[in-house]
Amino acid sequence: MYRAPRGTADRLPDRQKYWRYIESKAVALAQQYGFGRVDTPVFEDSGLFVRSVGEGTDIVEKEMYTFQDRGSDSITLRPEGTAPVCRAYLEHGMHNLPQPVRLYYFCPVFRYERPQAGRFRQHHQFGAEVIGDADPSVDAEVIELAWRLMLSLGLRDIQLLINSIGDQQCRPGYVERLKAYYTGYHDQLCADCRQRLTRNPLRLLDCKVEACHALGQAAPRSVDHLCAECQAHWEQLQGYLKHMELPFQVDHRLVRGLDYYTRTVFEVQPLDAGGQSTICGGGRYDALMEQLDGRPTPGIGFATGMERLILNLERSGVAVPEEPSPRYLVASVGDGARPAALELASRMRRASAGAILSSGARTLRGQMRQANALNIPFVAIIGDDEVRDGTVAIRDMTASTQQTLPLAEFLASLGG
Ligand SMILES: [Zn+2]
Ligand SMILES: [Zn+2]
Repeated sequence: MYRAPRGTADRLPDRQKYWRYIESKAVALAQQYGFGRVDTPVFEDSGLFVRSVGEGTDIVEKEMYTFQDRGSDSITLRPEGTAPVCRAYLEHGMHNLPQPVRLYYFCPVFRYERPQAGRFRQHHQFGAEVIGDADPSVDAEVIELAWRLMLSLGLRDIQLLINSIGDQQCRPGYVERLKAYYTGYHDQLCADCRQRLTRNPLRLLDCKVEACHALGQAAPRSVDHLCAECQAHWEQLQGYLKHMELPFQVDHRLVRGLDYYTRTVFEVQPLDAGGQSTICGGGRYDALMEQLDGRPTPGIGFATGMERLILNLERSGVAVPEEPSPRYLVASVGDGARPAALELASRMRRASAGAILSSGARTLRGQMRQANALNIPFVAIIGDDEVRDGTVAIRDMTASTQQTLPLAEFLASLGG
């Protein structure tokens, strides 16, 4: 027997309500803010991610699904959503559109990670990007959108964390200070962090290993080493967020796992859990377009993992609306009535009513049991008498009552 590959999950009908719920809330909000939907391919040239996500990152080094296709091109299944959107922005000359361009997407994301609760090798994201405007008011709006999405889904006991990690001007100097600090504690660092010390020092700050985490408390803070421009951006952003009454906290250890972020980074996390459980994260990426050979174009965005969101919805006991299902089962009594039942079900659906034709059981009792098993509240019964008289018997399964109606009147009552 084959099973779904490790780290993947089938999404069966009884889970779909969560997906539809999140999608409908996310689309409604994104449209409010003027975002348009973009869909990019599941795979891209590998170089796109190596250049954007960054060579020293865990994603590029350990987690990408990269393979050679039959034409010997190196292909990678999308490990994150932002780089493909930026690639599409450049490829389609979106700099010619009124700036900034606001785009949102839903997409599967592939990373070869150790599977655990809420973490999959194929998972799914909702993301939003605003490209073409460096003003901190854009950061504030993107952060507000992310935060409002979480609230509109019904998530509570969550926190909004922000930080500024500077840009190409000021970050190198900060990273040197960080390296110097951690080098002093080299023996206390976990094995991963010793590697990070040379390859990706910023990530030392958000290591979850306890010894490393404790060292992070006293580590130099990026916001203390910003250049004048980054400092102004950071202060304006905080001013805007306060003005909008967004309940943010500054987290000096928030750095995010991708190389392309500049200045603003932010995350939404549950109040009661460590950083492993980030629900939503994003940041500014003003240098990314140049890394992809585009003209300098600022951008900022965020993504939220659908599976992680669903986990949190369930944990918080958020009541998610059920998917609509048919209200009628059409039952037939006697073989002669079968064609009439089939026709009735068809006409009901054309009148916009959900109707399932009974199956298997031929006794009325058996067909009623079917209705109960499927949670269908009404049974439309067609027997020889009904066929002859042009009527239908409607049984209310909850009230255990039944009435016979002329067929035309019943169909008209469905109001389609
Ligand atoms: Zn560590
Ligand atoms: Zn700077």
